[in-house]
Amino acid sequence: MTEKGNWIIETCDLTRIYGDGEKIYALDHVNLHISPGELVAIMGPSGSGKSTLLNVIGALDIPTSGQVLIHGQDLSKIRNKDQFRASTVGFVFQMHNLLPTMTALENVEVPMMGHRPPWERRKRAKELLELVGLGNRSNHLPGQLSGGQRQRVAIARSLANNPPLVLADEPTGNLDSVAGNDLMNLIRDLNTSQGITFIVVTHDLNVARQTRRVIVMADGKIEREDTIGSPIEEDLKIWSHSDLGKLILQNDRAALADLAITTDQMEALREIFEQNADKGPDKEMV
Ligand code: ADP
Ligand code: MG
Repeated sequence: MTEKGNWIIETCDLTRIYGDGEKIYALDHVNLHISPGELVAIMGPSGSGKSTLLNVIGALDIPTSGQVLIHGQDLSKIRNKDQFRASTVGFVFQMHNLLPTMTALENVEVPMMGHRPPWERRKRAKELLELVGLGNRSNHLPGQLSGGQRQRVAIARSLANNPPLVLADEPTGNLDSVAGNDLMNLIRDLNTSQGITFIVVTHDLNVARQTRRVIVMADGKIEREDTIGSPIEEDLKIWSHSDLGKLILQNDRAALADLAITTDQMEALREIFEQNADKGPDKEMV
């Protein structure tokens, strides 16, 4: 491991071009650094290169030029990509990709086949289903589970070989907002309790807000990055953009007089709004 091993992921001018005639830069010189234990969201319009980025980082796709370093190790120099994927990176996709004729337990066992003996696979799969809150559903087939439960199984499966990194491509994309929120809570719990690094592609600002860092892509490039504050700071930030927040920040006493807010309360709110107005993503984030 080199000095660069301080990052779990580092990309250097990562570029992926599609097409022979008219070239499409799915990734255009992307330089990204992710520390171990981070929980990062990737946002951006459809076609901006989010899936390509995850696929290249996870060695499912090969870049046209540039490098991916995982723990400082150049992916292009890794001979056994299957072994690398099995031990280093778990994937979760929008469509859960569970095998329909296998139970939840058997599905979680699949990535361990060839890596662990059957008794150990079974034991670990049971533990993982417990971990994602589905210990009592292990013998259900995917068709007997809700969308949110299927994605939990997919997360359990992604963790089968204990990877330090999980790449999730729109994992909440097919879920309603309640199930999506539950799934993000699970991802957050796993990030905190197991120290797993998660990169989560999402279109949903509410999902992104539950991470600590949001990378916004456009046209194959990183357009910008935002650090997410604590949930309270974020709520204050959003309030500070509300009509009430604007009145308070502008100290519009006449308009505020109708709102039955005392001067003391208004001063306290203004102080908080002013402190938080420059932190985190702003409302134009997506
Ligand atoms: P996102 O996940 O942000 O929607 P993608 O990474 O899937 O974006 O795609 C980025 C760009 O690369 C798009 O313009 C897309 O059409 C193009 N692209 C992706 N995969 C292929 C492919 N296999 N062949 C040709 N073009 C592709
Ligand atoms: Mg995509």
